Amino acid sequence: MSLSVVGPRVLLRRLREVMAEPETAQQRLDRIVVLIASNMVAEVCSIYLLRPDDVLELYATEGLNPLAVHETKLKVGEGLVGVIAQEMRPLNLTDAQTHPAFAYRPETGEEIYQSFLGVPIMRAGHALGVLVVQNRAQRRYSEEEIEALLTTSMVLAEIIASGDLEEVRGSARRLPVPGRTRHFAGVALADGIALGHVVLHEPRIEIGNPIADDIPFEKERLATGLEELRRSIDDMMSRSDVARGGEHREVLDAYRMFAHDRGWAQKMAEAVETGLTAEAAVERVQNDNRARMLNLTDSFLQERSNDLDDLANRLLRALTGHTGTAAAGDLPKDAIIIARSMGPAELLDYDPDRVRGLVLEEGTQNSHVAIVARAMRIPMVGQVKGILDEVETGDAFIADGETGSAYARPSGDIEQAYAEKVSFRAKRQAQYARLRETPAITKDGSAISLFINAGLAVDLPHLEEAGADGIGLFRTELQFMIASSFPRMTAQMKHYRSVIEAAGDRPVVFRSLDIGADKVLPYMAQTKEENPALGWRAVRMALDRPGLLRLQIRALLRAAEGRTLKLMFPMITEVDEFKSARALVAKEQEFLERHGHRLPEKVELGAMIEVPALVWQLPALLAITDFVSIGSNDLCQFLFASDRGHPRLAGRYDPLSPVVLKVLHQIVETGRKFDVPVTLCGEMAGRPLEAMALLGLGFRSISMAPAAIGPIKSMLLSLDAQALKNEMLELLDLPDHSVRPQLSAFAAKHNISV
Ligand code: PEP
Ligand code: MG
Repeated sequence: MSLSVVGPRVLLRRLREVMAEPETAQQRLDRIVVLIASNMVAEVCSIYLLRPDDVLELYATEGLNPLAVHETKLKVGEGLVGVIAQEMRPLNLTDAQTHPAFAYRPETGEEIYQSFLGVPIMRAGHALGVLVVQNRAQRRYSEEEIEALLTTSMVLAEIIASGDLEEVRGSARRLPVPGRTRHFAGVALADGIALGHVVLHEPRIEIGNPIADDIPFEKERLATGLEELRRSIDDMMSRSDVARGGEHREVLDAYRMFAHDRGWAQKMAEAVETGLTAEAAVERVQNDNRARMLNLTDSFLQERSNDLDDLANRLLRALTGHTGTAAAGDLPKDAIIIARSMGPAELLDYDPDRVRGLVLEEGTQNSHVAIVARAMRIPMVGQVKGILDEVETGDAFIADGETGSAYARPSGDIEQAYAEKVSFRAKRQAQYARLRETPAITKDGSAISLFINAGLAVDLPHLEEAGADGIGLFRTELQFMIASSFPRMTAQMKHYRSVIEAAGDRPVVFRSLDIGADKVLPYMAQTKEENPALGWRAVRMALDRPGLLRLQIRALLRAAEGRTLKLMFPMITEVDEFKSARALVAKEQEFLERHGHRLPEKVELGAMIEVPALVWQLPALLAITDFVSIGSNDLCQFLFASDRGHPRLAGRYDPLSPVVLKVLHQIVETGRKFDVPVTLCGEMAGRPLEAMALLGLGFRSISMAPAAIGPIKSMLLSLDAQALKNEMLELLDLPDHSVRPQLSAFAAKHNISV
């Protein structure tokens, strides 16, 4: 008794009639199961929906005992229904009860039904539930019947996700939030906890109406959409930057191959034939692809399936004319933005009052979007593989920027635990806020200067909030990185002036443009380098192309008129480079003077110590600098020959190794001898145990992310720096990987809050 191809069409039409009736959700589900059963000539049709706690609950049935509705429950993976939800694949059985996964539920009365066909109710790559038909007689359901049930389940998924099924009759029982809780382990990139709702940076297309009114018209739309898609890929491939080859080219080659794939086009056309709109047909075939992808172990095939998935998304966009990111649309008040990758400017496009968190499939500690997220105090988690396949706009979500965990559709107990964590953090923040006015003096009486690192206008209020002594590192390149073209001299000057004014009497140390390596300017032609971190970057670039640096120096000198300008140069490797940079400043001072401009009252110039070679030139360097600042992020990268942004190397070497500490000790001691102030402004200054070690080595000035000021002050108030120094000097010659354990033990013994 097989189903002809008109079967699903009639069914889909009826489903639409059901949706048009003013009924409760339960009434609708009850009618839907009757419709499906009669259309499929099945004695049983049941709908199981997935609750956030990973339980599939029977929500409606025709044929099974009605008393089992809302009583029968199966865990994901349990019973035939649970296996279908887990594997996201149909199960077609002539004798269901002999299947090893069969789980008998006496309340249903299903023992009299032998044959069983179940399909997952899929949307955007995850199962929302399971749709089942059963018959008494032993029979095998045909391919057409499976297809028909899949098409029906897809329409059902749209109905569930659209929220049309509001509340279930008779009780306050609500339909489960679509999908189950998923935990992801990523990497913490910006501290903080975000509870909110998912906003996909590139919104997925909402299929308004999955059921076709006019099938020939939908076929036509599909064909036009495909044509447009093929054309856009051909256009992209002919662009000169792509035509030259490289990774882009390979990806697009695969795209082109799929876009012209007859099998794909035919499957979608057949789905339209069954009564779906063009968009729904694309998604229906996409669902099959995703289910297949889930079971692939070959990474090459997985990549290809990913390409096909991306292509289907493009086709959906072509069909609906949707482009642009979510920043342009309406955002909820508690948006958690999710994307594959993102540039810093794209994050800044969002209304900061509405963004609670950011989660990326890619992203590393030093990626610029992470720097901007930290500046904006947006908790961020990166390297969350596959998240885009698992969430959709509107899902409840938790991003934990402290541990790198993320939860989609969290269950009640997870939400509760996080609500407590948030309130604990708020209390701790309040404690830190109370320390704001307390002078940063160690227990043994050493005054410590605590500075913040900054780079954007959004950072400036933090100076006041944190009660810091000034800005120890102002990364001027951030303004350049988020602009769409080189900022003009006047724009730079305005920016620097606003920073100086916001700081008031407190000092600001500007760093000249530090571009190259991972800091790329989208509008500046870049030559590909084998080793960009060791390449043409920072002051090297500035000295070779002095036009850019001179313009920046001019802007800085003018912004600081009548005050003190502190300026340092990044990646200085030889004393001569510092001298050349200093000469450029002198030239600009002369130029401005000649043109009648008012100059700063005082100009202090410094070098960043980021390259190990400089450590052996300290006497010569310190003789001619007003101050130095250690960029420990780069210094450690070069000392260990270990890429600071490489996820596999993260954590391999420890800045608390005797080697690093010995180098830092040598620098701080030499600085003292030459009476030149030494600061450290790398990430380690903002971590309590590391900062404690720095104070033990003799540092009296450190610069960090604004959020770290509270924890660091709390640490140093309970520290006897001299006692630590006495113990630490003994550790510097150890051959150990790290002296973290000894330092932790010191902190524990002396009750130091690290
Ligand atoms: C550093 O290298 O430690 C530093 C402060 O500079 P950046 O992180 O901007 O390279
Ligand atoms: Mg650096």
